[in-house]
Amino acid sequence: MPGLEDLYREIILDHYNRPRNKGELPPPAHRTDGMNPLCGDEIAVYLVVDGDGDDATVTDISIGGQGCSISQASASMMTSAVKGKSVGEARKTITAFKSMMGIREEHDHDDTHDEESTDHQHDHGVAAVKLGDLEALRGVVKFPVRIKCATLAWNTMGQGLDELASSDAP
Ligand code: ZN
Repeated sequence: MPGLEDLYREIILDHYNRPRNKGELPPPAHRTDGMNPLCGDEIAVYLVVDGDGDDATVTDISIGGQGCSISQASASMMTSAVKGKSVGEARKTITAFKSMMGIREEHDHDDTHDEESTDHQHDHGVAAVKLGDLEALRGVVKFPVRIKCATLAWNTMGQGLDELASSDAP
């Protein structure tokens, strides 16, 4: 019986070999560049968002640039996960993915008060996000130097969504 790790490796290789939503999108698509100097990964995230605020829809997303298998596979999986979803859902998925990578973005809190209800509610909301194939990247946590490869596309997309939100502001 093939192990979960074999399945995960297959999913990652599949996204690396046949990347989804790859290539440039022409303006008015919004372009945001990101890089991970530790590995040499470079990425451009092209976003087309329809509407305002968290209810807006990510109508199109594409990935340019080049990088290692983890960064490319993660970017491909990200586009599959958020394309057609709302901006609010995309942001939740970013938080959930980074949480899986061991990165917590909550406001700083005292470690002795882990049972605070606000934290609990936050965790609950993140847990409600279905990561699907993205779970395949969970094993990256064991290789801290590769975590920045896996999160590069996500940080870049988050930055792009922020830029779009601020440019829409009246
Ligand atoms: Zn990399």
